Amino acid sequence: MNERKALAFVGKLAATLGLLGSMVLATLFGAGPALLWLSGIVLFTAILLLWTSLRELSSDLEPSQPDPIDAPGFDGPLFEGPLFDRKRQLLKQLKDLEQEHELGRTSDIDYAELARGKRQELSSVLSEIDDWIGPYRERAEELVRQANTRVAPADGRVCPLCSTKNDADARFCKACGKETS
Ligand SMILES: [Zn+2]
Repeated sequence: MNERKALAFVGKLAATLGLLGSMVLATLFGAGPALLWLSGIVLFTAILLLWTSLRELSSDLEPSQPDPIDAPGFDGPLFEGPLFDRKRQLLKQLKDLEQEHELGRTSDIDYAELARGKRQELSSVLSEIDDWIGPYRERAEELVRQANTRVAPADGRVCPLCSTKNDADARFCKACGKETS
């Protein structure tokens, strides 16, 4: 049993104990002790919840897989970070190498060797970026697919004159009255 499930179980146990206990106490001793018991349980649950959220903040609990779209930073600077810095750097270095070579400051062999190294690194940086973006892209594509199915006319007739979407069996456009078939 993982910690998350254990905590959920303890929470349910607390709720059950709170209700049962307060009912028993209310029957035996009246409302006062029952309320005291209930508030004790509520306090315990509150502390448990606080503790859980603190534990999750310090990420001691195994983190649940976040939805990429909900992931922090999604609406932030998505294309920034060390990988993107390195990519820009490499592209600039390649350009500089090319210029140096065109100006005759580097030999063909040196240039070929240096450029090859940079291109190799660039390609590994690009594939790392690709891995990192992958889930976002898949999610984005899924959202686009969903939007498209929602938007696509089911089997309506689009008016040839005003482009209004009419019912599938409409003979005349509901907007301009033109025959749709
Ligand atoms: Zn029309």
